[in-house]
Amino acid sequence: MNLPQLQRTSAITKLKAQEFDVLIIGGGITGAGIALDAASRGLCVALIEKSDFAYGTSSRSTKLIHGGLRYLKQLEFGLVKEVGSERAIVHGLAPHLVVPEKMLLPLHEKKGLGYWLTSVGLRLYDFLAGVKAEDQRKMLTRSQTLKSEPLLKPEGIKGGALYAEYRTDDARLTIEIIKASVVHGASVANYVEAASLIYDQGKVTGAKVIDRFTKESIEVKAIAVVNATGPWADEIRAMDKSLSGKRLQLTKGVHIVVARERLPVMQAIYFDVDDGRMIFAIPRGRTTYIGTTDTSYAGKQDEVRVSKEDAQYLINAVNSMFPSVDLSLGDVESSWAGLRPLIHEDGKSPTELSRKDEIFESPSCLISIAGGKLTGYRKMAERVINLVIKNHFSRRTLLACHTDKIMLAGSQPPLEKEKAANHTAMLADLLQRGVPPNLIQSLLLNFGSQSSVIMKTLTAYEDQNNPEQNLLESILDFCVQREMVFTLSDFFIRRTALLYFDITSVLTHREFVAAKMANYFSWDATRISQEQSELNTLIRQARLED
Ligand code: FAD
Repeated sequence: MNLPQLQRTSAITKLKAQEFDVLIIGGGITGAGIALDAASRGLCVALIEKSDFAYGTSSRSTKLIHGGLRYLKQLEFGLVKEVGSERAIVHGLAPHLVVPEKMLLPLHEKKGLGYWLTSVGLRLYDFLAGVKAEDQRKMLTRSQTLKSEPLLKPEGIKGGALYAEYRTDDARLTIEIIKASVVHGASVANYVEAASLIYDQGKVTGAKVIDRFTKESIEVKAIAVVNATGPWADEIRAMDKSLSGKRLQLTKGVHIVVARERLPVMQAIYFDVDDGRMIFAIPRGRTTYIGTTDTSYAGKQDEVRVSKEDAQYLINAVNSMFPSVDLSLGDVESSWAGLRPLIHEDGKSPTELSRKDEIFESPSCLISIAGGKLTGYRKMAERVINLVIKNHFSRRTLLACHTDKIMLAGSQPPLEKEKAANHTAMLADLLQRGVPPNLIQSLLLNFGSQSSVIMKTLTAYEDQNNPEQNLLESILDFCVQREMVFTLSDFFIRRTALLYFDITSVLTHREFVAAKMANYFSWDATRISQEQSELNTLIRQARLED
């Protein structure tokens, strides 16, 4: 299969010239899923994103493709069934990127549901989610639990459970779905913002958009318009003058990242906190990340930050469960904060609000979707496009939804023997040349079989004495040519996640990457220093220095 190349200039030319069947506003996982669903059924699709793809919540989640055990507590059986069954499908579409992860659930005398209720609950979870026999929940005795995780405070532990989840990289999953939509003919562009909507006889027929690089204003025409802007969805509904009835309630969730040796958990763990909430600690590469919180948020969406109080809450939770660890704020290497676009319900606290998605149809036929999960993106997209087809294209012959069969780039194993041998040899070569194993591991996790393309360019670089830098340069080449990377944070946050999980390598290589990007895009001195200063701000925020 040819790897898709995202080309912004040709997408923008099409945005100006064509009338589309569907215009999607928002390039998070929801918009990406809708673009792929629509394009693969045969519709002519445009997608615009005001910042980078996955800039919003879709790069700031817990990065799990999960059945949502907590939704069982809220008795949301339908949601557990849908997202639970979706996990295995999404894993099948991108096995390199959606990786099975056994989760340990310690059971405590005075916290949580208790041993028997958890055992029954997890059995129900496996049943609803259709979990394969070998992956079904396993209940552990007290001593098995403490052996599985020796860092646990032994007092009060009654036993434990192991159950199946999947971990992923949310932003990479989003970009791969965007790339798949392009393979199916979608025209997509990042850094293009919807500024207002266009109407014809009271019906929405497109949007006036601004190219944020050139400041050019463009009219994009479409038969149907979908608002998939997550936490910004009410702003687009307000543009449409249809913001009435149900509204969004944004809640903030933060994660902190510490060096693996500071919290060397043996596996991912999901544990109770004294206030009744539950928290994940998940090993990833040379780090462990911990999250999340759930607090009401009333600030601007673009300004959501991790506060020291948020971080301290997570640290206290870890120290209470793993007392020998004794984390402090000084251990936080990186962090991120995201917003859940939930639907407001009178009298409910943030934690009690449903995570279900909801579709709003306005009198002008604007379709807005909000809520939901990363995990459920495919089904959400199917529902939206079913509605779009019912409203506008019922007479057109279109394919049924088949996104469960569209493999994402990177998922192909290097099939032929020779290719597989080359691939293994190249990896061994990287190791031998001194590239840190965690960087190689993250290359494979992030890019899967696309790593071969990245590694092919490696030998072309002049300075063969700096293998880590060479590898980054190859990844950058790939991302600039095929993944619409335009800023330092596109690269360090949303294409490689290095700013979260290997911030030292960002500090080491930021000048080099900035120089390379300046070369690609002919940045002048002002743009270089603007890019560097934006990246430095993001680094300080992630390290809780600002
Ligand atoms: P977003 O990702 O926010 O995308 C909306 C996009 O619209 C943004 O990129 C924004 O820039 C763009 N936009 C806004 N206005 C405009 C405009 N005018 N023009 C053009 N573009 C515009 N789900 C899971 O399944 N697993 C998890 O582990 C998980 N953990 C989570 C942890 C936290 C802390 C949070 C907050 C959420 C978590 N979720 C999880 C939920 C999941 O991350 C979200 O449901 C999902 O990412 C929402 O995606 P979205 O595309 O709807 O919104």
